[in-house]
Amino acid sequence: MNTDLIFDNTEIAFSLKNDSELERAYFLFKMISIEPLVKIGTAATNFAIKAHLPIEGLIRSTVFDHFCGGVNEADCLNVIEKMHSKGVSSVLDYSVEGKESEKEFDAAKDKILGIIDFAKEIEAIPIAVFKPSGFGRFSLYEKVSREDILTEPENGEWNRVIGRYDEVCKKAKENDVAILIDAEESWMQHAADRLVTEMMQKYNTEKPIVYNTLQMYRHDRMAFLLEEHKKAKEGKYFLGYKLVRGAYMEKENDRAEDKGYVSPICTSKFATDENFNKAVRYMMDHLDDMSLFAGTHNEDSCYLLMNLMAEKGLLNNDPRVWFGQLYGMSDHISFNLANKGYNVAKYVPFGPVKDVMPYLIRRAEENTSVAGQTGRELALLTKEKKRRKTL
Ligand SMILES: Cc1cc2nc3c(=O)[nH]c(=O)nc-3n(C[C@H](O)[C@H](O)[C@H](O)COP(=O)(O)OP(=O)(O)OC[C@H]3O[C@@H](n4cnc5c(N)ncnc54)[C@H](O)[C@@H]3O)c2cc1C
Repeated sequence: MNTDLIFDNTEIAFSLKNDSELERAYFLFKMISIEPLVKIGTAATNFAIKAHLPIEGLIRSTVFDHFCGGVNEADCLNVIEKMHSKGVSSVLDYSVEGKESEKEFDAAKDKILGIIDFAKEIEAIPIAVFKPSGFGRFSLYEKVSREDILTEPENGEWNRVIGRYDEVCKKAKENDVAILIDAEESWMQHAADRLVTEMMQKYNTEKPIVYNTLQMYRHDRMAFLLEEHKKAKEGKYFLGYKLVRGAYMEKENDRAEDKGYVSPICTSKFATDENFNKAVRYMMDHLDDMSLFAGTHNEDSCYLLMNLMAEKGLLNNDPRVWFGQLYGMSDHISFNLANKGYNVAKYVPFGPVKDVMPYLIRRAEENTSVAGQTGRELALLTKEKKRRKTL
């Protein structure tokens, strides 16, 4: 067993931050840890954006610069290159959300195609990503998920969604760049899952290129994984999965309660953790058929995966296993893993400031509500500040 507690090394964790960046990160997490402040700040920011008040500069120099790489791809290059100098790769995440028109879906698709081309040239970007709702209307996914009959225009619209997935996955295969597809709310996910499985059948014939996402806070996901594995073996294609716990727990539970059905979410954090670990173990036992991208800020989950790799005698940089964190969070995990030679990539969100606000608000709320997360970031930043003072 590999029991080294590598994540405590703050010198490695914050090696890219100068003293003033360290102070800024500390100040930001301190603010985020105050729940009423996040609530008021969110409401005030939403209002200011709607009222066209000039607050972009303020957002940019605070939350935006901490959690995002820039407003466009070129803007992110500095961050990408700096991280790569420490062995951490990037997944450029076009984080514009809530768009609803065909024109915007096509623009998002073109953006991802551009990133895949960019990735082919730049070693620091081995993986691309998109969100299902970036390529089609949420309510259309919902309707397809319910298996309702589509009207003729809706059929045409759904075919265009399929076309966007196909164009992106085809390009990913041609350029040998893995493509991750995020998972969203359970009531639209069934349609996305079916589509991604089709893409895996088509493009994962030689190795995993297309990766779906399994949200292990859903109690049905282990059964789904087993079923998909059976299908892949029969169909002779490889599986790729990003494993996460899941980001929409409150929304899921509230909707289930409102509509009177059993929530798809595990009944406790412990049950989610067990489910996540079970999927990690299963995937590690079947690495000849599948590859794993563990998207997590949970130290125990990372240690579990590291230990399983060691037990199986895998190299730390086995191409079938990746660790992933979000830019601006858990650098102590990303940079210490990279320092030990593991494959690590950080999602680097980018987009115009006002368009990435939903993403930024989720990060602020997550860091307020996930017990311990902000506390841990603050403790590590404090430790590093103290260490530097004693130099
Ligand atoms: C690279 C990357 C990609 C991601 N992609 C996606 C994605 O495509 N889709 C998506 O939904 N999320 C995605 N996430 C977000 C991910 O789901 C969150 O980071 C996650 O919710 C935080 O979990 P954690 O593993 O870091 O660990 P922890 O902080 O240990 O776990 C917190 C999580 O546990 C679960 N949980 C907490 N309390 C309970 C409870 N009472 N009952 C049941 N479960 C509970 C929730 O999922 C909660 O978010 C991604 C994260 C990363 C790092």
